Parts: sequence; structure tokens; C-alpha cells
Amino acid sequence: MEQLGGCLCGAVRYRVTAAPLWVTVCFCQFCQRATGSQGMIEPIFEIGSFDVSDGKARVYTHVSSGSGKNVYVHFCGDCGTKTHLTFERWPDRLGVYSGTFDDPSWFEMSPANTKYIFLDSAARGTMVPAGYNTFARHAAENDGTPITPSVLSEMLHMR
Ligand SMILES: [Zn+2]
Ligand SMILES: [Zn+2]
Repeated sequence: MEQLGGCLCGAVRYRVTAAPLWVTVCFCQFCQRATGSQGMIEPIFEIGSFDVSDGKARVYTHVSSGSGKNVYVHFCGDCGTKTHLTFERWPDRLGVYSGTFDDPSWFEMSPANTKYIFLDSAARGTMVPAGYNTFARHAAENDGTPITPSVLSEMLHMR
């Protein structure tokens, strides 16, 4: 399988060749600011299943306020679209800004593979479906210890 995506102007194009390992929907302030929206829908891939096929993305290095590690935001220097993220902390993984896929609906988003994180900072209007794993902040401690999720019994609508 192959799925394609790219920036608004088309100068940066990419390809993925495998399904995401999982999907994170994140409402942290970094993701709100970076997307200019309520948060980021972030399918996470093995780094080897992604490549930039056309053009060259620029990179903004952001120091995570949580881990102190670098997060690398890849974006088109012409139109400003952010396409993907890489991480100092997880060098073998990569996150895609899902709205940049040519078909943003191609991958599964089910309770089995999707979690919602940083509900503590979700903005007014944000909705979170029932039945999915949710977390107040991160899904794991800085040392990697998993945090127990909460599963909502009904949809959450931040007011
Ligand atoms: Zn562009
Ligand atoms: Zn985030």
C-alpha cells in the first residue's frame, strides 16, 4: 500500500508505505498553536515507512516543555504547511499532520488504535468521543511508564 500527501502549494510531497502504529489526538498547547486549531490528529509511523518524495521540508526545532527534548517540526518553506514531526526522544517514529494526506480518511481511527491526550488543556468546543482511551496529559511518564487511561462513558464536549 502507498498513501501520498503534501503541503498546500505542492512543493513538498511525501509517501507512506504502511499503516500507522497508532493514532494520537492531542489537545496540548503546542499542538493547538502549531495547528492553529483545537489540536492535532497524529498518526504515528515507523520512520522507515515514510519518505519525502518531492521537495525538501524545512525544520523548526522546538524544545518540549514536558521532556526537555527536541521536537522537529517539518514544514514547507514556501507555503508554511506543516507536514510531519520527528522526535529526539523517539528517533524510530514519525508523526504526520493528518490533514496533509491526499485522503485524510485513509487510516483507521478506532478505540483499538486511537487515544486522546491532553484533555486538561482542551479548548472550548473540543469534542471527545465515548469509548476511547483518554489521558489528562501524556499517556506515559517521562521514564516511559504507561499511565492508566480513562474511557469516557459518553461524549465529552468542552464548554
Ligand atoms: Zn508548500
Ligand atoms: Zn500535543
